Amino acid sequence: MINSKLPNVGTTIFTIMSKMAEEYNAINLSQGFPDFEVSAELIELINKHMKAGKNQYAPMPGIMPLREIIAEKTYNLYSLKYNPETEITVTAGGTQAIYTAITSIVREDDEVIVFEPSYDCYLPAIELNGGRPIFIQLKQPDYSIDWNEVQKAISSRTKMIIINSPHNPTGSIMTAFDLEKLSKITAGSNIVILSDEVYEHILFDGYEHQSVARFPKLAERSFIVSSFGKTFHATGWKMGYCVAPAVLMAEFRKVHQFLVFSVNTAIQYALAEFLQNENNYKGLEKFYQEKRDYFAKLLKGSRFGLKPASGTYFQLLDYSKISEEKEIAFAEYLTKKVGVASIPVSVFYHKTFDNKVLRFCFAKSNETLEKAAEKLIKL
Ligand code: GLN
Repeated sequence: MINSKLPNVGTTIFTIMSKMAEEYNAINLSQGFPDFEVSAELIELINKHMKAGKNQYAPMPGIMPLREIIAEKTYNLYSLKYNPETEITVTAGGTQAIYTAITSIVREDDEVIVFEPSYDCYLPAIELNGGRPIFIQLKQPDYSIDWNEVQKAISSRTKMIIINSPHNPTGSIMTAFDLEKLSKITAGSNIVILSDEVYEHILFDGYEHQSVARFPKLAERSFIVSSFGKTFHATGWKMGYCVAPAVLMAEFRKVHQFLVFSVNTAIQYALAEFLQNENNYKGLEKFYQEKRDYFAKLLKGSRFGLKPASGTYFQLLDYSKISEEKEIAFAEYLTKKVGVASIPVSVFYHKTFDNKVLRFCFAKSNETLEKAAEKLIKL
């Protein structure tokens, strides 16, 4: 018999709920992916580069023009210079970058601080490397961080702290205050920060993304992960990147080269060109804020309670006025009987924590949102 290395891991909630949505013909607001088209120009560019023969292995860290434009974009947005030669690697999506960063740093018995609810790919990566997750709960009602608690949780064994802003699944964001606190608490230590910033271009209400790259003292010890899938409505392409100082990136690349070696060549060339025009990603905030607001407007008068959503393309809805059921059961009921699939937030906690909130993805056409809301307001 196989002695599983991940005995507690089953199928991800995203797969389960998307499958259930399909089976019951429900509107799928569960797994986070847009249902609108990728830019025709970007697709044309990929086509062009494929026809031009860009179909063999890319260099292990990514093609230079893409790394160069990532460096430029990061500098323009956050005022920190990363060297494309040694400090930037193109990855097969955010998840691969996160796995690679964790694997390159975490050893047996190292402690890794994780905030809950936490995106589901962090934990298995820590565990496969023999690390020990130290859980800290985000504080209600706004899913904020209690930095005193973080300070207390840090020990001589703390190897890494994983942060995620804008935050999946809650849509909360970290402020400059948060990052200053983190910087202060970890100053002078060797604690590595893994900053999952895949929703860096999706913040609302005038908030600016507080990338770790804006805090040079912190960035000195940090991996920052970003995603082209989120930014260009192309989650299926599995394209992302990681930036980190050369000492960390050298370790990252040792793992990266044997995990995937390199990623899709033609798409890299296309992205390198597409990113030249910053308007191709700068309008995303407005676009998604309108979606968020439209979904909220459609839900006016319903018995769902809207949680504040400052970033990402997710909206948490509180259903405590509708049902006493636990989140998993209620999400199942909504999918099978009401016809709208969502994600129970309780699955993002290692111990059951049922708060009667479900996550809904609003990266959908207005028509899809209208159809979903029509069903939800009846409850
Ligand atoms: N990031 C997506 C979400 O939060 C899921 C990605 C996946 O299915 N692995 O819904």
